[in-house]
Amino acid sequence: MTGTSSATDNAIKKVVILGGGTAGWMTAAYLGKALHSTVDVTVLEAPSIPRIGVGEATVPNLHRVLFDFLGIEEEEWMRECNASYKMAVRFINWRTPGKGQSGPRELDKGGPDHFYHPFGISPEHDNIPMSHYWFKNKFEGKTDEPYDYACFREAPLMDANKAPRHLDGTSPTRYAWHFDAALVADFLRRFATEKQGVNHVQDEMTRVEKDERGFVKALHTKEGRVLDADLFVDCSGFRSLLMNQAMEEPFVDMSDQLLCDRAVATAVPHDDEANGVEPYTSAIAMSSGWTWKIPMPGRFGTGYVYSSRFTTQEEATAEFCELWGLDPETTQFNHVKFRVGRNRRAWVKNVIGIGLSSAFLEPLESTGIYFITAAAYQLAKHFPDKTFNQTLVDNFNKEIEVMFDDTRDFIQTHFYFAPRTDSPFWRANKELKLPASIREKIDAYKAGLPVNPAATDDTTYYGNFEAEFRNFWTNERYYCIFAGLGLEPDAPLPILYHKPESVAAAQAMFTQVKKEQQELLNSLPSTHEALRRLHAK
Ligand code: FAD
Repeated sequence: MTGTSSATDNAIKKVVILGGGTAGWMTAAYLGKALHSTVDVTVLEAPSIPRIGVGEATVPNLHRVLFDFLGIEEEEWMRECNASYKMAVRFINWRTPGKGQSGPRELDKGGPDHFYHPFGISPEHDNIPMSHYWFKNKFEGKTDEPYDYACFREAPLMDANKAPRHLDGTSPTRYAWHFDAALVADFLRRFATEKQGVNHVQDEMTRVEKDERGFVKALHTKEGRVLDADLFVDCSGFRSLLMNQAMEEPFVDMSDQLLCDRAVATAVPHDDEANGVEPYTSAIAMSSGWTWKIPMPGRFGTGYVYSSRFTTQEEATAEFCELWGLDPETTQFNHVKFRVGRNRRAWVKNVIGIGLSSAFLEPLESTGIYFITAAAYQLAKHFPDKTFNQTLVDNFNKEIEVMFDDTRDFIQTHFYFAPRTDSPFWRANKELKLPASIREKIDAYKAGLPVNPAATDDTTYYGNFEAEFRNFWTNERYYCIFAGLGLEPDAPLPILYHKPESVAAAQAMFTQVKKEQQELLNSLPSTHEALRRLHAK
């Protein structure tokens, strides 16, 4: 046998994906494209077992890494998925004590208790990020403008409910999307089955058959089907039927770092014409967690993410109803229990977990869908043959582990540094341990150093997923959250005191931001107008 023919014999010929939620169909469509239809892909989905199905917020790489890769225009999928625009997460009342309320309270020092966490890499001057010049100005009393308003064009645009795109489709800013996750799964199902030849089997898996090595050989179903394959992807949601159950891979619980483990969610009708559409996700601090607000055309999705250690379902639902003025008798609630953490390994033998079956972090930074697209990307990059080279498996696992743990630490800091201590939940967060890896970053920030500065500019960073993946939470991200919560470096970066010319020249960056804010305020349409036109087509 020649080397070529043995390589061909070893090639993976069949993949079965268990589960047809967002993870299942995103993975199917991604693999359909990445493998150029050389592999037979089947999605097995039990129509009787519902998807998780809450309104979703995303991050900007979704279009480029997934839809653009699939050759689907942004306007097409946005229309199909009832999508709207997201320019940031707006954190409301994370500093001041009080009950959950949708509008910001007043800070002690004056000004509203809210801050934005927009996307984008800020400019730098003399190899020092703009954030550091801003902090020097602030430290010396030369500005009292918050970081998000001084260094990003987006903050006043969001206050004015402006869209991130002009009506001609050009966009001056980075943005992501809000959408209905169930519609995304349905849209990708149609795409994968109609355009890529992915097989769709609607049936319930009841038994997993393994071979003598412990590899999965076939999935048996309620209606008597036997689906065999070389590689299986577990997208069965929190049940994790293949990874946790069949392969017995342990789930590493991380509830010692992140306390929230429940959500109560609903959709609230909204008069877009009368009230406009907010181009951001809101994260409103509550007594035992926080509430998301995800605007979509004609309504907003919302959910109170809380910790069952500090409140009951009844109390949380009552607090949630009070926030939005909902009638508990007539409102339909979706109560979700979730686990925080990840499987010890994302890939074991010939089974890979993607989506909720593999890992889950609470949705504060909208990373669920990102983790799915990133895992599909990494799977295509590490795609094995039937020999399942262990180095491919180990590398994939390392990538997923670092992606997850880095994000987990970043999210923990939101709760840890929120100054409020007015309820047992907020106090408990301050008593938790921060892992050494995030402690190092905090020390760097306090010493005035940039944390994870992007090695490239905004365009290169967002044009190259490898660059973004390797450094997802950049200096701007840490600055937004830390400065937004009122945590500041101990002093400006000392070298700045030896660079008077750079400090003087850097002020032009702030003038430029102000100029562009004004220009964009004058030229961008409202989010409502942009969405009305998009969805009318
Ligand atoms: P599911 O949607 O649960 O799908 C599981 C699939 O497996 C279903 O199709 C089911 O039928 C199938 N299945 C199960 N058992 C069997 C069986 N025996 N046989 C056959 N099929 C079976 N992510 C974001 O990016 N942004 C957000 O804002 C966000 N908010 C969230 C809020 C909450 C409260 C939660 C819990 C999650 C949130 N997420 C968010 C995460 C996001 O919802 C999920 O990552 C995403 O929907 C993927 O879900 P999934 O496909 O893994 O699982």
